[in-house]
Amino acid sequence: MKISAIKTFLMQAGPSGLGRSSSAFGGSRNWLFVRIETDDGVYGVGEGSGWPRVVETAVKDYAPLLMGEDPCDIDRLWHKLFLASMGHGQLGTVGGGALTALETALWDIKGKVLSAPVWQLLGGRFRDSIPVYAHAKTADEARRLKGLGYGALKVSFTGFADPALVAAIRGAVGPEIDLMVDCHGPSWMTFADAVRTARALEPLELLFFEDPLPPEQWEQYERLREATTIPLAAGERLATIWGFRSLIERELVAVVQPDAGRAGGISQMRKIAAMAEAHDIMVAPHSGSLGPIGEVAALHVLATIPNALVLETFAEDWRGRYEVVTPGLRAQNGLMSVPNAPGLGIDLVEAEILKYPSERNVREPPGKCTGAFEFGTERAYPYTQMRLRRALRFGPGGVKPIV
Ligand SMILES: [Mg+2]
Repeated sequence: MKISAIKTFLMQAGPSGLGRSSSAFGGSRNWLFVRIETDDGVYGVGEGSGWPRVVETAVKDYAPLLMGEDPCDIDRLWHKLFLASMGHGQLGTVGGGALTALETALWDIKGKVLSAPVWQLLGGRFRDSIPVYAHAKTADEARRLKGLGYGALKVSFTGFADPALVAAIRGAVGPEIDLMVDCHGPSWMTFADAVRTARALEPLELLFFEDPLPPEQWEQYERLREATTIPLAAGERLATIWGFRSLIERELVAVVQPDAGRAGGISQMRKIAAMAEAHDIMVAPHSGSLGPIGEVAALHVLATIPNALVLETFAEDWRGRYEVVTPGLRAQNGLMSVPNAPGLGIDLVEAEILKYPSERNVREPPGKCTGAFEFGTERAYPYTQMRLRRALRFGPGGVKPIV
């Protein structure tokens, strides 16, 4: 059995256009799927995130190196591709996305060849469904999501978190729901503001406090970890075991968040999880911009690791998410089922994908409306934003959002 063809499918995932308020991604989200075909008719599908339009080019660069290879030599082929591109420097999440798309498709092929779901090939299951969390922006929305069965909810900000809003949501859902806060960035809080915000959030008993600081500032994470009791989480912008090594070995976070579309593939996800396990660190994969094939890859990995925590999802995403693949997977009662069909248990619906050609894959930087910047500084696009009017934010009455 030999690899005979590699095809890419790049699509616009939701309405496109500058300043589209209907999309959480500023009208810029793309999904990149691949299909690896073999000379005996078996094929596999995968997905690469990171910067999908650029990842597609990287996948096409890699493709000739896989032609004629045995698709079941998954790890050897991953290393062949990895070494082939090292001349370009550190691969980051774009290279990680390309490796992930192809490697995931190889696992799908191998599962089909052996008539076993991928989770079976990875050592079998701890669980047959995975707890997922949804995003809440208001207390009313949080209450509604709790009513749908979600046991965990995340409140996302751009830069400064608003502890008063998080407190209102905690009050609405009670102590039995896991709450998380994501500062996401940019702009980012300064270290001092991150400490102050973390301490203001402490009484709300968060499951984790995500990306409170820029992903380049691991020393600051170390100091923040010492300054607060909130479990920290990070890692959505990292790829490969070497990308995660510092975060895990230095125990800078309690939760790592590899993205199953760009961390390097299913084997890399498993290895990252094993490194984390040795440090009592939990795994809560990032999704958000990720499409449905990467999401299913994450389900297979999470089924097989002891330190699985929860998977990020949208409670209601753009309808195309459920139409460009079959079956379209949805959460029920805050859980997603792990597929039992051979391979990944999901396939592309080409006719649906072709309806949404890629139009744009970068977005406008965050603007005034997101609260990311101080008034008067928006056009400077500061990467880190020190609160200029500190008395307004941190003064009497507690920590308040930027208005
Ligand atoms: Mg995040």
